[in-house]
Amino acid sequence: MHSKKKLIAGNWKMNGNLTANKSLLTAVVDGLNQAQCDVAVAVPAPYLAQVERLVSGSAIAVAAQDVSVHESGAYTGEVSASMLKEFGVRYVLVGHSERRQYHGESDVVVSRKAQRALAAGITPIVCVGETLQEFEAGDTEAVVKRQLAAVIHLNGHCISEIVVAYEPVWAVGTGRTASPEQAQAVHAVLRTQVAAASEHPDRIRLLYGGSMNAANAAQLLAQPDVDGGLIGGASLKAADFLQIIHAAR
Ligand code: PEP
Repeated sequence: MHSKKKLIAGNWKMNGNLTANKSLLTAVVDGLNQAQCDVAVAVPAPYLAQVERLVSGSAIAVAAQDVSVHESGAYTGEVSASMLKEFGVRYVLVGHSERRQYHGESDVVVSRKAQRALAAGITPIVCVGETLQEFEAGDTEAVVKRQLAAVIHLNGHCISEIVVAYEPVWAVGTGRTASPEQAQAVHAVLRTQVAAASEHPDRIRLLYGGSMNAANAAQLLAQPDVDGGLIGGASLKAADFLQIIHAAR
């Protein structure tokens, strides 16, 4: 078992509005009590300022869902790491499977995004995971190792500062979860890989994501190499998100 605090990060995806955000976060802040884990919410960029205000003074950190590979300039629609930093962003998701799938993000792009985040003092939550086809072909290990190797290759000197989220694509938003044993097996592989590249391997947290919910969180989080969770759908319901937070100890 690793001694670091677990991290529970919500990913709202493209959901929310000013009214709903306020009631969700008010309820989560109220129910946090003495949470024993770190907590973050990854929100759509237009709501960063609102969410920063709503969580200020609480233990909840603000996260973004994406960051540009560019520093600044003529990149219409993009948001840079330094802009995120100005809004108090502590974590940013990079390489979420929906970005890889729908926006064609390659391993190299994901690695460069992680690099931009690190340079701005933001912790990248690097998402890796195999598709259903790759899972069925028995390629899980090879795929996640390739995805993580690209990030290590570009960011090796500060690899201890990243968070890794293992999210099997077949489990994201599908209601189908990896079993605790399946998650642990992949996490053990990722642990070995990052540990070999890091001077401070104990700092690196490995999250599981993919239909984690109030009912299955405790078992997943009890695995020795599962240091937290990345939660999509269940992070939009205060009671469910709080139950997951309180299962993380
Ligand atoms: C996610 O968006 O990272 C995720 C894991 O989604 P869900 O929990 O809804 O599967």
